[in-house]
Amino acid sequence: MIQLTGKDEAGLIAALAGDVDRPFRARQIARWILHRGAQSFDEMTDLPRSLRQSLGKKYSLADPEIVRVVSSSDGSSKYLFRLSDGATIEAVAIPGRDKITLCLSSQTGCAVGCTFCVTGQLGPGRNLEAHEIVGQVRALVRREIRDSGPVNIVFMGMGEPLLNTANLGPALSALYETISPKRITVSTSGIIPGIRWLAGLPRHPKLAVSLNAPDQTLRQKLMPITRRYPLAELMATVRAFPLERGRRITFEYVLIRGVNDTEKQARAVVRLIHGIPAKVNLIPLNSDPIFLPGLERPTDEVIDRFARVLRDAGKTVTVRWSKGHDVAAACGQLKGSHQPVR
Ligand code: SAH
Ligand code: SF4
Repeated sequence: MIQLTGKDEAGLIAALAGDVDRPFRARQIARWILHRGAQSFDEMTDLPRSLRQSLGKKYSLADPEIVRVVSSSDGSSKYLFRLSDGATIEAVAIPGRDKITLCLSSQTGCAVGCTFCVTGQLGPGRNLEAHEIVGQVRALVRREIRDSGPVNIVFMGMGEPLLNTANLGPALSALYETISPKRITVSTSGIIPGIRWLAGLPRHPKLAVSLNAPDQTLRQKLMPITRRYPLAELMATVRAFPLERGRRITFEYVLIRGVNDTEKQARAVVRLIHGIPAKVNLIPLNSDPIFLPGLERPTDEVIDRFARVLRDAGKTVTVRWSKGHDVAAACGQLKGSHQPVR
C-alpha cells in the first residue's frame, strides 16, 4: 500500500496522476485528505464508487494507532502511538486559552544521547516517515480539536527532527497546507547542517535551539553531540538564520539542580545570546528516578533567580512551570513504551 497522508497537495496530485485522470478529481481527493482528515476513500462520497474502491486497494490513508491516552488535570493529554512496525512513539496535546499546541515526535528514539533526557537514554531509534509525522497531527486533531482555536505544532517530542530532514521536509510541506509555518516550531539540539537546511527552505518554521548550558565544556557533558557541532559554530549558524519580521529564536534551557542553574551561568547565557532576537524558555527538569538517577530540578527559588538575571538583562523569559507535569507530559520527557502493547 502506498501511504498518501505525508504529502502536500502537489504531491498528492502527482501520486494519483496514473489512477485519477481528471485533475479536478485529484484536487477533490487532496481536499478530503488535507482539509477533512479522511481516513478512507469510502468517506469520499462525492467520488464514483468504482474509483473509491480501486484507490482503496492501492493507497492507504491510515494514521498511527493510538494505544493509550493519559490525561492530566491541567488539560493536557499524552498519547502513545503504535506504528506499523510495532515501534511506539508519544505525542502531547496541550490546550491553551486561545490555541492548542501539539508536541510531536520525529524519531522513535534519539541518537544524540543527552544525559538529562529519557528519550536520549533509551538510545537511537528510527526516523519517522513523513506520514507518521503528519499522522500524529491528524489523529490528535480528530481527538482534541473542538473550539480550541488554531493549532500550533512543536517538534519537541521524541527524537531530533534535524537528523530526519528527509522526512521532516515533506511533512512540513504537508502541514503547511493547513497550518501556517509561523505556528510550527522545530526544536533542535544544535545540528548545524540541519539548521542550515532549515534556513534554506522557501518557507521555514520557527527555530528553537536547546542550549542547556552556556559553555562548550558543560554542554559537551550534557549533550555529547556538541563535540561534533561546537557551541561557537552553532551560535554563528543561529545568528545567520533568516528571521521574518517580529520572529525570534527560542533558546530552551533545561534547568538541572547544581549543574547549570547558577546566576553566573545565567549571566553567561545573556552574553552568549547577545544581539540575537531571542526568547529564553526555561524548563525545570522533569526528573525520572529510573532513567535519570541523581538528576533533580532546582528549587523554585533558584529557578526564579536564574530567570531574574535574564529578565534584568532585558531578555524575554518564560518558565514552563507545570504544563503536563503530572503525566510527565512536558515535551522531552517522552519515552514511548518498551512493553509490548497488545
Ligand atoms: N531533540 C530536540 C527536540 C526534542 S527534545 C531537542 O533536543 O531540542 C525537546 C526539549 O525537551 C529540549 O529542549 C530538551 O532539552 C527538553 N528535555 C529533554 N529532557 C528533558 C527533561 N528530562 N526535562 C525537561 N525537559 C527536557
Ligand atoms: Fe535527543 Fe532532544 Fe532528548 Fe537530546 S534532548 S536526547 S536531542 S530528544
